[in-house]
Amino acid sequence: MFTQDKKFKKFNSKVWLSTPTMHGEELKWMTDAFDTNWMSTVGENINEVERMAANKIGCKHAVALSCGTAALHLAMKLAGTKRGDKVFCSDMTFAATLNPVVYEGGVPVFIDTERDTWNMDPVALEKAFTLYPEVKHVVFAHLYGTPAKMDELRAVADKHGAVIIEDAAESFGATYKGKQTGTFGDIGVISFNGNKIVTGSSGGMLLTDDTEQANKARKWSTQSRENAPWYQHEQLGYNYRMSNVIAGVIRGQLPYLEEHIEKKRAIYERYKAGFKGLPVTMNPFDEKNSKPNYWLSCMLIDQGAMCKQVRGDLDACYVAEHGKSCPTEILSTLAAYNAEGRPIWKPMHMQPIYRNNPFVTVEGDGRGKTNAYISGGGVDVGMDIFDRGLCLPSDIKMTADDQQKVIEIVRACFD
Ligand SMILES: *Cc1c(COP(=O)(O)O)cnc(C)c1O
Repeated sequence: MFTQDKKFKKFNSKVWLSTPTMHGEELKWMTDAFDTNWMSTVGENINEVERMAANKIGCKHAVALSCGTAALHLAMKLAGTKRGDKVFCSDMTFAATLNPVVYEGGVPVFIDTERDTWNMDPVALEKAFTLYPEVKHVVFAHLYGTPAKMDELRAVADKHGAVIIEDAAESFGATYKGKQTGTFGDIGVISFNGNKIVTGSSGGMLLTDDTEQANKARKWSTQSRENAPWYQHEQLGYNYRMSNVIAGVIRGQLPYLEEHIEKKRAIYERYKAGFKGLPVTMNPFDEKNSKPNYWLSCMLIDQGAMCKQVRGDLDACYVAEHGKSCPTEILSTLAAYNAEGRPIWKPMHMQPIYRNNPFVTVEGDGRGKTNAYISGGGVDVGMDIFDRGLCLPSDIKMTADDQQKVIEIVRACFD
């Protein structure tokens, strides 16, 4: 419980969750596009960022697109998702991971989360294949920049002959057993949205080693024009290509990826040290096999240290209690001091739009208390992490002093 005798000064300038960090070269390459009049979806910046990204990630082709969601949509088309097909999807992720399944008429089947990396649970995935053996496509994300259990997920998918679409939108630069995320799926996706670890203000890429796939994605993204003197179309097209101006921003940002990761790592480590003695843990990862990009630092409150919290569809309330706290209290307290945190991405099986879709979990019965869920119900892993977890301010322009104050505010919530 946050006690009023703990007085902190409000942050003068807002401490953000995660905002763009520019360095200068971005403007140079944008200006270059302007000065040479390549103000379109063709140009040297696009060629160069495709080359740089493929080189960094270690894949043959990176196709520059308008956003990560567009890349996921083209990935679903390449995988061949058809109307009515069920697709196994991450449950605790941003909706853009799986909305493209629905664009193609597919039906997302949500797979519960494991507790070791907060990503798709390979055990639940295996269970899903016993329930729906006909499924041929799996799409999952590396949440908050933490690599999923890649070997296990790959083994399950291979056993059942399924194709993997890997959503590395949040994990650009993170590695698993020394390999970049985005290279483990049959098709990979990254994003340059404004809140990601490097940004073009928007933008995304489809990653593949298959030249034919890359060519198809490029063609579809530029309205599927055939090689003819007039506009000739044999396939459905999309206007999904990246702008050469946006590519200029990305071209200036890419050299700073490792620096951004290092700063995000330092933020994570400072929180971890700063919360010593509190009944909380940081978002976990496989320390032996993976290197996250630490995009967002998150915390999880021990079950026994949760005060009562009730969440409806659009709002929440809690009952303050000495020695205990909850995400609702911590987030509202941070907001009162002008600092931005965020709840854990609300699991898809709890979203009104997807409430009737199948959900596969290995804990509890999986379904039920989706309205006004009361803490401690322990129905499934995703719901439990959503209940007890939160994303902390993780902006790389946050000073160590500001972060120290965030830590003290969080600590005071447990008084
Ligand atoms: C940001 C994000 C996307 C979508 O990327 P955009 O470039 O914003 O379209 C997809 N999946 C996840 C997990 C994301 O965080």
